[in-house]
Amino acid sequence: MYKRKRIVIALGGNALGNTLPEQMIAVKSTAKALCDLIEDGHQVVVVHGNGPQVGMINNAMAALSREDPKQPNTPLSVCVAMSQAYIGYDLQNALREELRKRGFVRTPVVTVVTQVRVDPDDPAFQNPSKPIGHFMSKEEAEHAEKAYGYIMKEDAGRGYRRVVASPKPVEIVEQDAINSLVDANKIVICCGGGGIPVTLQGDHLKGASAVIDKDFASCLLAKQLGADMLIILTAVEKVAVNFGKENEEWLDDLTVSQAEKYIEEGHFAAGSMLPKVQAAVDFASSGPDRTAMITLLSKAKDGIRGETGTRIHL
Ligand code: ADP
Ligand code: MG
Repeated sequence: MYKRKRIVIALGGNALGNTLPEQMIAVKSTAKALCDLIEDGHQVVVVHGNGPQVGMINNAMAALSREDPKQPNTPLSVCVAMSQAYIGYDLQNALREELRKRGFVRTPVVTVVTQVRVDPDDPAFQNPSKPIGHFMSKEEAEHAEKAYGYIMKEDAGRGYRRVVASPKPVEIVEQDAINSLVDANKIVICCGGGGIPVTLQGDHLKGASAVIDKDFASCLLAKQLGADMLIILTAVEKVAVNFGKENEEWLDDLTVSQAEKYIEEGHFAAGSMLPKVQAAVDFASSGPDRTAMITLLSKAKDGIRGETGTRIHL
């Protein structure tokens, strides 16, 4: 037996699939992998991405306002909230079933609709860079700019896409409630899609037109929960230097300073592996007993035993 750990798990796109039916199937194997860790006695807190889902919801809501002029366009923050509930539902449902199969009939699984505060002066707001939703023609893009105030960018000759800001998470608004649930051994799903971005305006939290990176949000959550591990599950078993090149090298174990050197040398692609390694470094830097790991969903259990994955520590 090894020590029971408090683990924040960030699920990447491949844990959920791209469509409604794909997600229903994908969550079954995701639930199995998560239950393996729960069965081993670990306390598991789940964060998930929402890229395809929030794009889908955004498009559906845009279609609604095209069809019915009385329905104004839905803010992106509301679309993120919808994605948290919908993905939370599928995960909750699959986790409950898998837990019951393994004899855990009384372990509650709960999704927390989570707001995450961002800084309105975050430089990311001046430079929206994250593409979301479908491709549009020049005419459609001009209409979206005028009608909804979207910022549209041409994307590598493939058409126009809406771009939104991706500010850093500052505070998880529901943190205290999440702590209470985790302390009471409930299985918690929270900060979905990086959380619903909000800015503080007096007593009001105003939804922001932005998408927070789920890797950064899960790092903040793990630090605030005093977790032992942050595990980022994605489409590769390990992180590589010289990724995709002849001299590619898969990494097992890294210190924070080695990882920082590789970041500086540009080994990790922006928007995919870079935020994961940055989040891993940030978490590992926050204490000598804190380890971050990046691996495949199906390898999470082996990774915790130290058998695979890329581990980052002080
Ligand atoms: P997720 O949905 O889990 O966030 P992403 O597609 O955003 O997944 O990021 C994972 C991808 O990052 C991998 O599938 C891989 O193609 C890519 N990647 C970029 N640089 C590296 C690297 N240095 N080592 C490993 N994978 C990398
Ligand atoms: Mg990603």
